[in-house]
Amino acid sequence: MNDSPVTRHTIFQNSLMSALLDGIYDGEMTVGELLGKGNFGLGTFDALDGEMVIIDGICYQLRHDGTATRADLEQRSPYSVCTNFVPRISRTAPQNIRRSELSAFIDEMTPSANYMYAVRITGTFSDVTTRTVVRQNKPYPPMTEAVGDDAEQHFTDVSGIIAGFRTPIYEKNISVPGCHVHFIDDDRTSGGHVLDFTLVEGRIELCPGTDLNLRLPLTSAFSNANLDPEDLDAQLHATEVKGGGTSAASVHAERDAR
Ligand SMILES: [Zn+2]
Repeated sequence: MNDSPVTRHTIFQNSLMSALLDGIYDGEMTVGELLGKGNFGLGTFDALDGEMVIIDGICYQLRHDGTATRADLEQRSPYSVCTNFVPRISRTAPQNIRRSELSAFIDEMTPSANYMYAVRITGTFSDVTTRTVVRQNKPYPPMTEAVGDDAEQHFTDVSGIIAGFRTPIYEKNISVPGCHVHFIDDDRTSGGHVLDFTLVEGRIELCPGTDLNLRLPLTSAFSNANLDPEDLDAQLHATEVKGGGTSAASVHAERDAR
């Protein structure tokens, strides 16, 4: 069996995760432009005003109270990742599987850990725990402080989609290493950044990415940001896996728990 994807596929990214960690919360790219780069993805909005998820070419804003609304094409994003989702690898999930187990199952589905993967999980969930960033005021605090305002939401017995990306560890200054996914329900009325879930039944689809199209902001805030902090792993842990139930700062150790 071939252990590499057989088709080239581009993933588009607007700005860097390390810029977001440094408090660069105002972007220069609109939702309208972003949708021109792909019909599937995630990210956040200016001032860190909620989580973004893009499903079937529609961009949704997931706010701290757990509600979802359709985003406006003129809204801007300081960080987002998207692609035109092509489900090249697809499998039915084992029933009643928790996030940590599903993570290992998805690893087995991938031909290699060294490529990027867009991940779409469609099904029914007995529980989904999410958190959502809260709109920040200037001067913006770094993200490790901003997430102190986060609200956690618990959804039970819900159908929906978990959408996001599995990113190689070597991309950790660029993107969120490991699995970064957002949830939205079937009614498109609620969701957030996923911390944990149990999938009762559903389908997992993967779209391997071999090429990265990276767009860096032309703003003075970005020009002056510190994009290589010494405690990057700890910052990623505090902001992306908060509430995940582990305390190790190492992103490597976190991988399967995410
Ligand atoms: Zn997120």
